[in-house]
Amino acid sequence: MNFIGLAAGSLAAILVSLSVQAQDDERCKQGKSLRLVNGKIHTMDSRDRVVSSVLIRNGRFAAVGSEGHHGGDDCTEVINLRGRTAVPGIIDNHNHVVLLGLRPGHDTRIENARSIAEVQATFAARAREIPEGQWLTALGGFNISQFTPPPATARMPTLQELDTVTPKHPVLVMQGFNGPTATNSLGKAFFSGLNPPIPVDDNGVIPPVTQSIRALNALRALQTFAEQKRGLGYAMTYAAEVGVTTHLDQGGFPNVGVANSDNGVDALANFDRYRAYDSLRALYQEGKVFNRIWINFLHMESDPTTPELNARLLNVFNDFGDDMVRVLGIGEFTGGGLFPTGDAWRNGTRLVAMARWRNENHSLGFNVGGIPDWKIIIDGWQSVHDEVRVMPGLSDGITNLRWVLAHVPFMDTEYLNKLKGLGGGISLVGGWRYISGTATGNGPPFRLIIDSGIRAGMSSDGMQISPMNPWLGMYYAVTGRNARGDLINAGQLTTRKEILRLYTADNDWFLNLDGKIGTIEEGRFGDLIVLSGDYFDSKKVSDEEIKDVHSVLTVVNGKVVHDNLDGKKRMYWNRDSRRP
Ligand SMILES: [Zn+2]
Repeated sequence: MNFIGLAAGSLAAILVSLSVQAQDDERCKQGKSLRLVNGKIHTMDSRDRVVSSVLIRNGRFAAVGSEGHHGGDDCTEVINLRGRTAVPGIIDNHNHVVLLGLRPGHDTRIENARSIAEVQATFAARAREIPEGQWLTALGGFNISQFTPPPATARMPTLQELDTVTPKHPVLVMQGFNGPTATNSLGKAFFSGLNPPIPVDDNGVIPPVTQSIRALNALRALQTFAEQKRGLGYAMTYAAEVGVTTHLDQGGFPNVGVANSDNGVDALANFDRYRAYDSLRALYQEGKVFNRIWINFLHMESDPTTPELNARLLNVFNDFGDDMVRVLGIGEFTGGGLFPTGDAWRNGTRLVAMARWRNENHSLGFNVGGIPDWKIIIDGWQSVHDEVRVMPGLSDGITNLRWVLAHVPFMDTEYLNKLKGLGGGISLVGGWRYISGTATGNGPPFRLIIDSGIRAGMSSDGMQISPMNPWLGMYYAVTGRNARGDLINAGQLTTRKEILRLYTADNDWFLNLDGKIGTIEEGRFGDLIVLSGDYFDSKKVSDEEIKDVHSVLTVVNGKVVHDNLDGKKRMYWNRDSRRP
């Protein structure tokens, strides 16, 4: 503060106010409480209560009801929601936020773009806030099929289209795990200068997988640790904007030190297991983690004795940490490779059962040896259960370990019942099939799974194969339509409330946080989002408009971590300029 030129009277007033401030800080040193009033707050509790006011103190909901119901005190900040709709913070029970944080360059989320013009608008907005010359990158989370509505065929933005909006920033755009990949003129100049050069065609396309992965790793080689921390901060910022307050991260594939292989190794989903969590730990120690980040460790190894998994289980505590960062279990692989086959997977799974950890495996719906992967996993879990339950102290087998089958594009009642009998649950995904699903590559069977009564919860599986934005997944569950507008999942639709419940209240079980998170009830974690529109009213937010829902106020652990209530903060993914 500049005191020069202040009249004595106003200086005295400032000193008084500073001392009041000091007393206030002393009194409020436990942290300020937060009271939200005049809202339409859907608690998602078992009675489906809608209340107008909540008080959050010490990170927990302290009172839930109406304005007259509770007061707070001098240390309470009051925010008037002016009738807006609020819901519990979204819990994403399966994603890859750690990988997103590790992306080189300034991540530019184009997962919400529905045309090339919207891709351009998103880059233009990002370019305005990033110093010239620095890389803008859009790596994973989208599918080119979403950029060119039918009848046009799916394609990348061209070099010329990228140059129009990013003349002063090099750009790299990469789909999925290893391409297709495109760049702009400044990017092309950089890649041409490498030794050996990375070829870029006239349209900005970097041709084969090998060269795409080389391009990615050329940028990774430039990345500093400070940039990794910045990247994770940005990933949490984006999550807060779309309303995700809690992540259960499912790890990455191990780097093998081959940065340009045809097999797609050291591609977008790979990381250095020794260093991958450094930025998360550093931000945690600095008190700068503002999403809840739960960790599963992914184990991909071919040695049938699974030495790495064995070491993990012997030397790491499971379900350990605090309410913001916590190690949970093993997943989404348990030894072996991409598919649940062979001795490594089988032995790894047995080890996890004997160590009594949680376990999660993904099902992509592919056949392995003529048998669907989900049948192999559930039958494999059954036989591991039968093996270990005769061992001393393990008579309940895996039935209390809450093992989770993820994605499940396909499933049937017989196997749902088997999994239920093993105490397992299902992590459903929406965004994956939304951006790339087809009439036969569809699912998951939301209706079948919800109606079966098995434990089920929602996830995004962002950020390679699928977008993080939960509203795209909810749109897909409610309408059955993919990003190209094709109805591909008819007969398996959910209501809006059902799918939101899977993304909030029902996800407490997936984090071992039963009764502690996911609803707005006294004593639960103080995580809440205020929505851009009334999601529950189809007259105010049409089915198509579900895709545009986002958070205008995000509260995590009782603290405001994103505030756009007045509409003045330009979002990173820029809703306003998104429609050119
Ligand atoms: Zn995953």
